[in-house]
Amino acid sequence: MPFDPNTPDVVLGVVGTGAMGRGIVQVGVQGGMRVLAYDEKPGAAQAARDYVASMLDALVQKGRVPAEEAKAAVARIAVAQSLEEVAKADIIIEAIVERLDVKQAVFARLDELAGPDTIIASNTSSLPITAIAARCKRPERVGGMHFFNPVPLMRLVEVIPGLRTAPWVTEAMMAIGRRMTREPVLCTDSPAFLVNHIGRAFVPEAQRILTEGIAGLAEIDRILTGAPGFKMGPFTLADMVGIDVQHAVMESIYAQFYNEPAFTPFPLSALRVAAGLYGRKTGAGWYTYRDGEKIEPPLAPAPASRPRSVWVRPSEHHPDLQTPLLDLLRRTGAELETGARPSAAALIVLTPVGWDLTTAVIDLKLDPARTVAVDVLFGMKGPRTLMVTPATAPEHRDAAHGLLAADGQPVVVINDSPGFVAQRVVAQIVNIACGVAQRAIAAPADIDMGAKLGLGYPFGPLEWADRLGSGRVLFILERLQAFYGEPRYRPSPWLKRRVALGLPLSAPEGRAA
Ligand code: NAD
Repeated sequence: MPFDPNTPDVVLGVVGTGAMGRGIVQVGVQGGMRVLAYDEKPGAAQAARDYVASMLDALVQKGRVPAEEAKAAVARIAVAQSLEEVAKADIIIEAIVERLDVKQAVFARLDELAGPDTIIASNTSSLPITAIAARCKRPERVGGMHFFNPVPLMRLVEVIPGLRTAPWVTEAMMAIGRRMTREPVLCTDSPAFLVNHIGRAFVPEAQRILTEGIAGLAEIDRILTGAPGFKMGPFTLADMVGIDVQHAVMESIYAQFYNEPAFTPFPLSALRVAAGLYGRKTGAGWYTYRDGEKIEPPLAPAPASRPRSVWVRPSEHHPDLQTPLLDLLRRTGAELETGARPSAAALIVLTPVGWDLTTAVIDLKLDPARTVAVDVLFGMKGPRTLMVTPATAPEHRDAAHGLLAADGQPVVVINDSPGFVAQRVVAQIVNIACGVAQRAIAAPADIDMGAKLGLGYPFGPLEWADRLGSGRVLFILERLQAFYGEPRYRPSPWLKRRVALGLPLSAPEGRAA
């Protein structure tokens, strides 16, 4: 390797010191490097230096960084007056405006100015690294280092070799990422790279569920932040990021994958963009805000009614998942029927995994007016999801609702859906992650790491499927595909093969070799 990223005197150049660039400057000096900061806007690089000084000072006040260390770190930042000056660095990270023509011009200029062993990396979120390098004489020293906002708090960095990047450059970018105390994940030069690619299911599938009238947006947020454990619901997240920004990303990724059905954007969010309802920043988006506080519609109160008796259809495939529900029903004093078929007065409860309730009721020759379903895949911690068919009678729905809420846990009542809300959202997350693995965009461990650190998911999608049962996840997708007849839900070949062979999804490739 012509360049040792671990020597103490490595010099990092940062071009563009806006929101991202200044964060990169901070983690660079905190990693012990000297930093040359450059911005075309006069005073911007100095402002970034002052900003980093204030951030480090705040860490000193909190006792997280010793005062001398912070002082020495700030002293390692030099403001460069020109690209010529930055070009003296060992590795240059570019964080300027997101425009291919502008980035290509800056890269071509840096390529002329810098020595042959200088690495030039881009922090682009959406442009191909290979295209950014196309006008350089030495494209082999160009790569991608994609940081996340805010850089000092988001530990992940995606390291992206372009088609012509030399292996030593990739290795050095990984080492520099580690030196900045980041967690580097390696991914190929593919649209949306790794994290934004695996993030293609959460918000779109939630919008699909809303579009179909299965549940309201606040209910969807409640369900997903409950038992599955997402930190933030998809609609709350969209309002925070900005529906305008998020919709543009959805359209761009859909186009970059040449209209892949799984990534189809929805007219619902396009309409909000047209109305200027962007989210928090405009005071209204999916939710409305008063004095910066989200106004959350209250959950429908639990009815007082209870069923006379309850027949829970025993499951051949997941008796283990039914146990917490049966325990709950016993605790509430419900009369549980044990016959092979329900009595004429019983409330009928199914616990489908992947099945649409209407389809199940017809297949099993049950009375739809008395039948409801409960999602048991993620356990019985609230809010619990209670699903009805279009023919379920209101008195049976209310009795089921009252019963499930008897211990004080909230219950969300939804309309019929193959895979309720949580099952299908998580199954689609897993499916898209398996697609990433199938195309060798990233290794299974990096896919899981990327989702946890980059998206804040409670588990990596592959390890999550292993915990839930990857066969169950595959089954949910198969049912979704069969029910809707849409390629949107076609299961990834990578998932099908691993399930068929009994291989964990989170195990590395080549395990059996
Ligand atoms: P920003 O607008 O906050 O900062 C960009 C800075 O670059 C500005 O200070 C501007 O003066 C400077 N600049 C523009 N053109 C320049 C040029 N030709 N030469 C030198 N300086 C120039 O933008 P940002 O949010 O920091 O984004 C920068 C890059 O990082 C973009 O490629 C963006 O896609 C990517 N990115 C952004 C985020 C994010 O959440 N903001 C996350 C990951 C990656």
